[in-house]
Amino acid sequence: MLSVMSQSSSVSTKKSPPRIGIIGGGVAGSTIALHLSAQPLDVTLLEQGPSLVNGPPICHLHAGGNLYREIDQQQCLTLLRQSIDTLKLYKHSADYRPTVIAIPQRDPGEVKHLLPRLQLLRDEYHRLVVQNTENKVLGEPEDYYTLIERDELEALVTKPLPAQPHTLQDWLIPVAKTLDFNQIKFPLIIVQEYGLSVFRLAATATIALEAQPNCHIATQSQVKNIQRIDGQWQLTVEQQGVTSHPQFDYIINACGYQSGTIDDYIAQPVERLVEFKAAYVTQWSQCQGQWPEVIFYGERGTPNGMAQLTPYPGGYFQIHGMTQDITLFEQGLVKNSKHSAQPQLAPRFINKLTKQWPPQLIKERSQNAIDFMAHFIPSFATADIGGKPLFGAQQIPGQDPSLRAAGVFFNQKNYARCEIVKASSAIDAAHAIIDDLTKLSFLDDHLIPAISPLTSPITDKNITTIGIALAKERGYPAALANRNIKK
Ligand SMILES: Cc1cc2nc3c(=O)[nH]c(=O)nc-3n(C[C@H](O)[C@H](O)[C@H](O)COP(=O)(O)OP(=O)(O)OC[C@H]3O[C@@H](n4cnc5c(N)ncnc54)[C@H](O)[C@@H]3O)c2cc1C
Repeated sequence: MLSVMSQSSSVSTKKSPPRIGIIGGGVAGSTIALHLSAQPLDVTLLEQGPSLVNGPPICHLHAGGNLYREIDQQQCLTLLRQSIDTLKLYKHSADYRPTVIAIPQRDPGEVKHLLPRLQLLRDEYHRLVVQNTENKVLGEPEDYYTLIERDELEALVTKPLPAQPHTLQDWLIPVAKTLDFNQIKFPLIIVQEYGLSVFRLAATATIALEAQPNCHIATQSQVKNIQRIDGQWQLTVEQQGVTSHPQFDYIINACGYQSGTIDDYIAQPVERLVEFKAAYVTQWSQCQGQWPEVIFYGERGTPNGMAQLTPYPGGYFQIHGMTQDITLFEQGLVKNSKHSAQPQLAPRFINKLTKQWPPQLIKERSQNAIDFMAHFIPSFATADIGGKPLFGAQQIPGQDPSLRAAGVFFNQKNYARCEIVKASSAIDAAHAIIDDLTKLSFLDDHLIPAISPLTSPITDKNITTIGIALAKERGYPAALANRNIKK
């Protein structure tokens, strides 16, 4: 933990670089800090928690938004481009396994309705690869998605499980052996959508930022108030019982679901939503072979909502079930009032966020998740609870709860409010802030230096070691900081 005390007394001279204060060290704040510390700026990252990227879970890359049928094509294209950039920056945080998408028999949707969007995404990926070959991080463009008919899947049922999957057919063998074919409509879709580990991302951001001489990381540092004094922002920061008042030329609010508290300090009215959600960690000891991610579509919030099975090494699987008794919660989605920019979650959610989940609730909801998945994969009924839930509150700017690609807003001078809904949007937010700093003459020109050199020398081994330490510190199995497929 570094101190922010030294910042409070520093005096700005003509030559000293502009001082940028980033409040919130989640994926947004940390990614922005990485970009800004590559510029001639003096960057301070203030995080109230004990470590960086310690917010709600991040488990899917969302390279094309294929997990959401309801979002528009433009959001899907944006998420595709943003995910490509994210893979370049956080290469060692991804688990490079494909995602299988199935439409259940009980669902009114049809595969043919999904094809125009998939074709559009494939063409856009192809265009991005032609534009820059370094964008080829999701495999060959023509393989972005593949359709698998029932007879092709049936032919895999008797095939031996490969030690290491190489082809799409290899990936489908464990699915073919366990899926209840009668529950789904064919063809299946396989998409190049990968996993993303919040623990590996936290490790990468921490190692890269600690190496930046102009970035001061202050963990366990909570911003309690903000005032504008003589054109500067003066923050009140509490760090382990010690209060300091660092001053900054420009501040960035990257406080996730708590962004509204910072807006309230500076009397900035905004409209936003906050949603509490959870995913469940299970262990399936009878699991055989290496699994892809498997998604069963469904209508959000109904008893037949989407089911997501996310694989980790060692037989661990994370489950999202978009129903009210698994991932979603009654009154878990709240909007702010006209008196405050901060939506107020009910005390039962705040208790879960800041203290503990009742053990009985963990048991009940994890079991609901297992049963939900067993509808499609009957042998999954033998899975057990594998750890505490992955949970958190997610901010959504505006009033549209289906918004997934969001960014950064500049409502006051020298103040940026970053509200991302998906981790992959953090890089665009950083670029927009660099543009604003340039407009305000804090930076000389628009040139955005390549950031991947800051993370690319970090070894897979180093990230695994620190990622596992973070997973354990936060009370999760080490497997969640590991991955099956590297690149
Ligand atoms: C169940 C669930 C599953 C999800 N799955 C995915 C997924 O698969 N992929 C994906 O891309 N996204 C996923 N998300 C969304 C993703 O987690 C969020 O979009 C992302 O964490 C937002 O990042 P952030 O940095 O904006 O906010 P956060 O990660 O919430 O970070 C904000 C930080 O600000 C700090 N902070 C707050 N107030 C203060 C203060 N006053 N002073 C100092 N520090 C402060 C907090 O401690 C926190 O660390 C999921 C969310 C949930 C709830």
